[in-house]
Amino acid sequence: MGRTYLFECCRCGYRANVSGGVDRGFRFAVQTILCFECKALHDAVTELKVPTAPALARWKLKTSRLDAAPGPAKAPTFQAALNRLAFPGVRRFRWLRFKPACPVSARHRIRDWNQPGKCPKCGALLERNALPFRIWD
Ligand SMILES: [Zn+2]
Ligand SMILES: [Zn+2]
Repeated sequence: MGRTYLFECCRCGYRANVSGGVDRGFRFAVQTILCFECKALHDAVTELKVPTAPALARWKLKTSRLDAAPGPAKAPTFQAALNRLAFPGVRRFRWLRFKPACPVSARHRIRDWNQPGKCPKCGALLERNALPFRIWD
């Protein structure tokens, strides 16, 4: 299970809903990043579980979901990864790996951000809410 937390800056009021580091569920994994261009935190998708090519071909025939794609060439956004087709009944998977990148533009300069860490706007320490904002698999 992955967990998304609300991080808040008590100095400038910046807020972000991110995992706060490396986190993984059953279908994908994320790394929280700081983007220097956006001056914001994002959860970058770093791993995505996709059916193997033969498993996907069998699944398409069985389900008539001929539109199902094996996997994206670049990392999907967190929301797209969350909403991705689940492929029920498929047993053989592989993991696609992506270099952490800003979901707004892959050209933005980023670095990994792990809690406890500083506010991307003002540099004060961000505070994490105790309870997760969202639990995802
Ligand atoms: Zn701040
Ligand atoms: Zn960015």
